[in-house]
Amino acid sequence: MQDKMKKLYEKIEIDAAYSHAMTLLSWDLETQAAKESVEGISKTLSILSKLSYDNYVNEDFKNLLYSIEVDKLDEVEKKIVEKLKKAVFEKMEKIPADEYSEYVKLIAEASSVWERAKNENNYEIFKPYLKKLIDTNKRFITYRGYKEHPYDVLLDDNETELTVSYADTFFKLLKEELGPFILKIKGKKEKELKDIKAKLSKYKFDIEIQKKLNKELAQILGFDFSKGVLAESEHPFTTEFNNKDVRFTTHYYENDVLSGIYSTVHETGHAIYEQQIDDKYNDTHVLSGGTTMGIHEAQSRFYENVIGKHEKFAILIKDLLQKYFGVNDISEKEYILLINEYKTQFIRIEADELTYPMHVLVRYEIEKYIFEDLKREIDLDDLSKMWDDMYEKYLGIRPKDYVNGILQDSHWSGGLFGYFPSYALGSAYASQMYEAMSKKFDVAQMIEQRNFAKINEFLKEYIHKYGSFKTPKELIKIFSGEDFNPQYYINYLKDKFTKIYLSEE
Ligand code: ZN
Repeated sequence: MQDKMKKLYEKIEIDAAYSHAMTLLSWDLETQAAKESVEGISKTLSILSKLSYDNYVNEDFKNLLYSIEVDKLDEVEKKIVEKLKKAVFEKMEKIPADEYSEYVKLIAEASSVWERAKNENNYEIFKPYLKKLIDTNKRFITYRGYKEHPYDVLLDDNETELTVSYADTFFKLLKEELGPFILKIKGKKEKELKDIKAKLSKYKFDIEIQKKLNKELAQILGFDFSKGVLAESEHPFTTEFNNKDVRFTTHYYENDVLSGIYSTVHETGHAIYEQQIDDKYNDTHVLSGGTTMGIHEAQSRFYENVIGKHEKFAILIKDLLQKYFGVNDISEKEYILLINEYKTQFIRIEADELTYPMHVLVRYEIEKYIFEDLKREIDLDDLSKMWDDMYEKYLGIRPKDYVNGILQDSHWSGGLFGYFPSYALGSAYASQMYEAMSKKFDVAQMIEQRNFAKINEFLKEYIHKYGSFKTPKELIKIFSGEDFNPQYYINYLKDKFTKIYLSEE
């Protein structure tokens, strides 16, 4: 037995080395590498990814993995074996190899066609690809099998144990409670916001100075620069090799200092999660990162929204902008409104905290419709119409073109169905985290005192330290003592935005 685990660890080490090299190359590509280097780096990346695939996907490894007697393992080893089986064999095995490689090719083509379609506002050229992507995914679901709802297969790929019946409860609440509330706030405090923005726009936000500000901010929040790096990239992201090497990026715009600040706060949430994972998982590689996309987004959105847009955090923003840029004519109260600006607009990634989940709701409803009946032919014009109808219903606006409608996100062109719900779930988990944390100590006071160590301690103890060892459902139980309860999210949003937008003083 010992012997087999030793062999397994040797294979894991090789995989870890490949993934280490690939992570660093990708990081370099996104942050520093010269434009002309893309071809060379991409070639190396594709060779490494082939080597790493071959390391695991072969009969010898399969025999080794399935011959290990799991009953004799400790709980960490058990989890490693279980995760490897699921990731390497259970999903891939059921899909015929030639169909899968066809699909990989389809994705590459679809992604570039989507880019053109988006630039030209041309849905027609993307439609045949979208149809093929949908048909292929339906076929894969048939191969892989499902228990209740076909869409469950795709949801679980992205958020372990997520099902339609679980997600439906959540989205129903958004529809019934948040929808009408959002329409009630529409148009409020527009003039105040315009005036504050006009004041801020008088200042110049030099990018070199922004870099210093953002570094200090990440430090204040608790990112440990002896175990990580902050760089710059077009689309901010976080990547890690282990808890001693966590890297994240932000972006800077000369005319929008808050965009950089909130990207930094969001990514710092991801980065602190990775830094606080227990050392004991480093060598397992399989368990050494954050557990799922939903839980990861919960950490980043907790920092970005719950903490970063908290009324007490406005004091910190005010102080930093005064210190670095001399901004001195915007009050604390004005900052609270500014960082919680409510925007009804079409683009998901530009949405504010309140309307964001409604953008996700639209995508969830459409994906559910696509996959609920595997035999039904999908009319692609119907999908676009569904999209527009729902924006009108939930946000009170109707897209006039495809770029602002169904063509805006890259996900489907990359074959990512079932991915969107975890964005909104992350926000809902974050509210439940706040609720649970508030039972232990006065969170507002900690933010005011800039005592983020206290907040990080809680996150580490109840969530971060576990790495990928626990599922989202288990973690929610651990930090809150109860199951997922989306009502906390609804209450949190309504209370907060009522206070800012609907109370007259
Ligand atoms: Zn994120």
